[in-house]
Amino acid sequence: VMLARAGKIDPDSLESALEHGAYAALARARIASPEAVLAAVEASGLTGRGGAGFPVGRKWRMVAQEARSPKYVVCNADESEPLIFKDRVLIDTDPHQLLEGMALAGYAVGADEGYIYIRGEYVRQAERLERAIRQAAERGLLGDFHIHVHRGAGAYICGEETALLESLEGKRGEPRIRPPYPTTFGYRGQPTLVNNVESFAAIPAIVQHGGEWYRALSTAAIPGTKLYLILGCVNRPGLFEAAFGLTLRQVIEAFGGGLRPGSTFQFALTGGAAGTLVPPALLDVPIDYASAAKGVALGAGAFLICDQSVSPVAFLRELLWFFEQESCGKCTPCRVGTHAARALLDRLIAGEGRPADLAELAALADVLQYASFCGLGQSVAIPLKSALNHFAPAFAEAI
Ligand code: SF4
Repeated sequence: VMLARAGKIDPDSLESALEHGAYAALARARIASPEAVLAAVEASGLTGRGGAGFPVGRKWRMVAQEARSPKYVVCNADESEPLIFKDRVLIDTDPHQLLEGMALAGYAVGADEGYIYIRGEYVRQAERLERAIRQAAERGLLGDFHIHVHRGAGAYICGEETALLESLEGKRGEPRIRPPYPTTFGYRGQPTLVNNVESFAAIPAIVQHGGEWYRALSTAAIPGTKLYLILGCVNRPGLFEAAFGLTLRQVIEAFGGGLRPGSTFQFALTGGAAGTLVPPALLDVPIDYASAAKGVALGAGAFLICDQSVSPVAFLRELLWFFEQESCGKCTPCRVGTHAARALLDRLIAGEGRPADLAELAALADVLQYASFCGLGQSVAIPLKSALNHFAPAFAEAI
């Protein structure tokens, strides 16, 4: 679905994209109605691919129903999480697909302006998008819908949608209190639709072929397809698109080409940096947005496979170091909690652990989960708790 034109077209040539069907869905939608587009997206059952899994159609309907204008469409291309590079591949292989998805969203919800907030390090991708926007606008393909590219300045927190909006408005990227949600009070206080690159990339095919077609691509509880990333100790690391409901074992065998010679599966980090550490006992759990409750997070769809050479304690320390660096500092539980947890893990690794350290680490995980202001701090508890839960002996050994 999302990779249909990947590798088949020249991503910098509008002609090449048009020859392979780009903008056909948008042209078709314009002779139908915004309501027809909304209905197709709702019928598809598409859920937000940023990690939370909120129904895309419901979000679009909320913005469409807002009487105030102007309204905005914002694409979250901040993709700053370690392990995750799917949005980069989508932009690099087929930028017009993203623009078409955003233009369809604008048409459906009644917005004339769209912003792509892209992480600062994606220089080539930002240029590629700007080129594609120019090409499409010159040919009148986007109609009255205007898309701007806004480059971030290197903060993980700006992938959180309200911090992204603050940053887009030129302010420091810190999350807003919710409610109100961006659908009613978003960019410049106006109704705003925020979806990520992967969600928009699925839209043209849904509008072209219909919601039922998309739904039927998956026999699992969640309709449609997802982009996955497999990394680490496998023979064939990379990115692939598949339906929901895969198990980790299937991901490793069918898409990763099996474990590298000499590697024995010890654990996988699934989801992303704020994902779960998954032990061998959970290799056969079907993965979707609900499987986090069973100990296997889907998150943004990344699977980092770790063999016997990786220390779970040292691994967790690296994750905590990332979160400590990226904590925006707005609230104390996350600002201090990530620092304290990382410092405690450093002590363990240095062989200076104390008997009370594991209980303290567990308590810090609770503080992060229940008292942090936004999802960043709250989700740090996920890898912390799953590591403590599944690899208690490795932590005990360090004391
Ligand atoms: Fe900032 Fe962390 Fe608090 Fe979120 S949880 S507001 S990232 S300090």
